Amino acid sequence: MTSETRTPNPESQPPARAAARAAQERPQVLPTAEGWEQQRTPEGRPLLQFASPRVKQPPQHLADLSLEERQAKAKELGLPAFRAKQLSTHYFQHWTTDPAAMSDLPKAGREELVAQLFPPLLTEVRRLKTDDGNTIKFLWRLFDGALVESVLMRYPGRITLCVSSQAGCGMNCPFCATGQAGLTRNMSTAEIVDQVVAANRLIAAGELGEKEHDDERVTNIVFMGMGEPLANYKRVMNAVHRFVDPVPMGLGMSARNITVSTVGLVPAIRKLADEDLPVTFALSLHAPDDELRDELIPVNNRWKVDEALDAAHDYYVKTGRRVSIEYALIKDMNDHAWRAALLAKKLNQRGRGWVHVNPIPLNPTPGSIWTSSERHVQQEFIETLRAAGVPTTLRDTRGKEIDGACGQLAAAE
Ligand code: SF4
Repeated sequence: MTSETRTPNPESQPPARAAARAAQERPQVLPTAEGWEQQRTPEGRPLLQFASPRVKQPPQHLADLSLEERQAKAKELGLPAFRAKQLSTHYFQHWTTDPAAMSDLPKAGREELVAQLFPPLLTEVRRLKTDDGNTIKFLWRLFDGALVESVLMRYPGRITLCVSSQAGCGMNCPFCATGQAGLTRNMSTAEIVDQVVAANRLIAAGELGEKEHDDERVTNIVFMGMGEPLANYKRVMNAVHRFVDPVPMGLGMSARNITVSTVGLVPAIRKLADEDLPVTFALSLHAPDDELRDELIPVNNRWKVDEALDAAHDYYVKTGRRVSIEYALIKDMNDHAWRAALLAKKLNQRGRGWVHVNPIPLNPTPGSIWTSSERHVQQEFIETLRAAGVPTTLRDTRGKEIDGACGQLAAAE
């Protein structure tokens, strides 16, 4: 017997052996799609779809255009350039596309102009509200029949909208309703922006719970609805510009309050770090080891955990913005304490103070492998990270009663 095998302390064992020991103590549930079949490549890997299919695009809308482009468009329509600013004010400041409300525009031709610059992009199909009225989930139909969702949430002192960036998704994660049908198409910039404008309209009408003050609107945006935002890079970035550009060019929001998340498209993370936009960046990691993550987040077959963490760390170095790591806690799949220790080790190897971990318990789903970790396991996971000096906050899962997870409403239609 070697001295190593006589030592029971798992800390002193090589990681693979410690992992094996820990796995014996707790079961290891493996990710697999339930009730649908994941599309695979001829080699048996989950299929990844990066490019949007070439399908008809939505009509151009004012929010697709920068202010200069809007001015050029006004000229093209035979109007003075200042009309672009007036139209922008109606949309980005007053959230209206109603010609009757645009009395500063000449009456003759107003309706036609509005029809041309504000084609309807989102048609509400369903709206679900929690009992307290503080969370509303919308299901929208796009011009081509594609369905997308957004979720509006009131918190003390802030209002957050979770937006979709693609119809469907090509990342094929086995737990996700959105990914099942693959990627239908990228959403246009204006389709992304219009989700926020629609939410602002609704808030102004007093339809989101109890108002805190009269001047309320969406303060925070998270790109965590349908789609992988960085797979629709250009349009998502244009939408971020519309969010942060000052009124009336855009919505005048703070870039810090906009969270762009990704499952780990490394080249796009590096591109994002080079933009001059201090948005909050979130990496949906969900597993610190490639063995599990290859199955859980198929894009890991392209860019491994360490590559994604390196890119996330570089984002912090370039922007000075602390990175968020999202980690859905799934019972007996990724919630083992040794995984928390491995995650902490990988984060600390890259430095201190650059990252914050947000574990999010999955919705409890009896009988499914995709179910929430038990309370004491969640606690152990969090304490392991904290004990290693990694700031960690358990997130609540808003909208449990109304199918809060992405893609569930659209999948039910
Ligand atoms: S979890 Fe996100 S990235 Fe994965 S398939 Fe669903 S929408 Fe796409």
